[in-house]
Amino acid sequence: MSSPLIAIHLPDGSIREVPAGTTSFDIANAISPRLAAASVAARITPIATVLDQDSARDGQSPDGQSEAAMYSGEDSHAPRLVDLSASLTADAKLELITEKDPDALKVLRHSAAHVLATAVLELYPETKLGHGPATESGFFYDFYREKPFTPEDLAAIEKKMAEVVARDEPFTREFAPRDKALDAFERDGDFMKTHFVTKFTEPGSEVSFYRNGGFVDFCRGPHVPSTGRVRALKVMSISGAYWLGNEKNPQLQRIYGTAFFSKKDLDSYLERLEDAKRRDHRRLGKELELFTVSDEVGAGLPLWLPKGATVRRLLEEYILDLERRNGYEHVYTPDLAKVDLYVRSGHWAHYHDSMFPPMDLENERMVLRPMNCPHHILIYESKLRSYRDLPVRLAELGTMYRYELSGALSGLSRVRCMTLNDAHIFCTPDQIKEEFSGVMKLVERAYRDLGITKYSYRLSLRDPANKEKYVDNDAMWELGERVLREAMDGLGLKYKEGKGEAAFYGPKLDIQLADVMGHEETYSTIQLDFHLPNQFGLEYTGADGNRHRPVMIHRAIISTMERMVSYLIELYAGAFPLWLAPVQVGLVPISEKHAAYADKVEEALKAAGLRVETDSRNEKMNAKIRDFANQKTPYILVFGDKEEASGTVSVRTRGKGDQGSMPLDAFLAKAKELVDSKSTGL
Ligand SMILES: [Zn+2]
Ligand SMILES: [Zn+2]
Repeated sequence: MSSPLIAIHLPDGSIREVPAGTTSFDIANAISPRLAAASVAARITPIATVLDQDSARDGQSPDGQSEAAMYSGEDSHAPRLVDLSASLTADAKLELITEKDPDALKVLRHSAAHVLATAVLELYPETKLGHGPATESGFFYDFYREKPFTPEDLAAIEKKMAEVVARDEPFTREFAPRDKALDAFERDGDFMKTHFVTKFTEPGSEVSFYRNGGFVDFCRGPHVPSTGRVRALKVMSISGAYWLGNEKNPQLQRIYGTAFFSKKDLDSYLERLEDAKRRDHRRLGKELELFTVSDEVGAGLPLWLPKGATVRRLLEEYILDLERRNGYEHVYTPDLAKVDLYVRSGHWAHYHDSMFPPMDLENERMVLRPMNCPHHILIYESKLRSYRDLPVRLAELGTMYRYELSGALSGLSRVRCMTLNDAHIFCTPDQIKEEFSGVMKLVERAYRDLGITKYSYRLSLRDPANKEKYVDNDAMWELGERVLREAMDGLGLKYKEGKGEAAFYGPKLDIQLADVMGHEETYSTIQLDFHLPNQFGLEYTGADGNRHRPVMIHRAIISTMERMVSYLIELYAGAFPLWLAPVQVGLVPISEKHAAYADKVEEALKAAGLRVETDSRNEKMNAKIRDFANQKTPYILVFGDKEEASGTVSVRTRGKGDQGSMPLDAFLAKAKELVDSKSTGL
């Protein structure tokens, strides 16, 4: 009996009629053997509602847990990745995935996790297997073994993995009845596999396995065609974790690794990783005496040391000044308020989990604020406003408290107490565009002054097909989204649009900053809010004498002081531009004889507003220079008899070394100029 024909739609628009059962590899090969060899996996989008045989056999349960993606099936209409060797059984769109496709790396890395498990079982057969997904930067596999893996073991494992790769074993898919699979796992004491099969497959179904050589793992794939495709891999680290996160359960050993299609990619990743370590703000924060975290104060509550506090204060002064020049009025409001205020604002209902618990006092309940908006709204409300008063721009370096899980806390970048460069603009609907443009100009200006160049804008809009998710005010949404676009286009700023990513109360613009590893995170958002003004019944008197509702814009230009300082530490690897450096000039008198000249130089620099530190210890000149250099001090001025006699200083510039001597006045003028222009160079 011949197979029925199915229609396979290719990306170039062509359609191939092939017998059901044909594989993606067959099709690739028919197009060109080179394409077949270059392909890693296939992306299939079913066209008809015909059930795919494989997923019918899998019998997956629709469980939505974190491991689910590895084991259970997706929506049968959604595109999904499959092995090149998988049989095509119904009409579908087919895309061959080559190494350049971002999804290819995930398939490779998950395959590398199988290679890791293969190596571990060959070396330590008593080990029990957990699971081994791909991660953003590589993969891991969880193992249970009484003896901890030593660094020597990890080296042996990496070596064995290279052997498994060299053996170039094909990954093949097999199926077994669920009962039989469970019996076998239970018999072998494979408690984790028993758990996963029970959880992620339906009774009576067949479950999917992948084999390479003698190694077989419960898995639904997909995989690269063979172990030989894992051309560049590295075992990175190991950590302990309790099975299912419960400390009463056995402790697992999680081995992390990474894999790439080429040695070149691996090397460049390892280089960037080294660079990221070198720039890590937690390490530099300690070395450069910027901040510390004390157990007695608590996690996520950093203490700013004098040098870190100087950087922060400079940043604060910078932004306050910029705001003052741009029509903002600064206010001070307390860090806490009655719970009722947040009930009224809606934060209590929606944001409760991220707040610290309330303090029950004699006859009131107070809570640390998670946001500054309600306080600013009350200031707006404190008097009658007319259209002539608008826009009202209220700004504050507002301190807020958020209960982040302890596991998420990190240095200055994830904290529980943070000070936001916050402001709320209350304006008429007609003023949205101009106000928004004004904010964007400030953002561009501040980023330029701070030397931040790697950022992008994302305009988050509502999904009109999903209206119940958003504040019901079509006219406002249409106006808001339109003027935000017009403002961005008018300023010539590039942005991506994200449909369905708006807050429930209005469209917003996110500012995404990229770190050394290329990861993007949202640092600031500018948000239109059609909700809070309603919630608080805000009003202004219009030119018509009637009462109208203002629109509110939440905005932060330079994020929280904590996050921005952590970003700047990493951006500059601790070597701050002159205007932000906690100590701008280090003075090194060659001997104690030159103390008086040191005083004179110090006084002159301080009078010019520069931050100076003199090393008057009875130490060798070179030791003093080294210490300032280790602190990444921009300028080190050295002087002895010769300099004193001629009124000069010998200048060492960070990153450039000895620049010879120059008159003190000339140095002063140069330094002042660099500070005033906020130059990032020296
Ligand atoms: Zn797998
Ligand atoms: Zn706000």
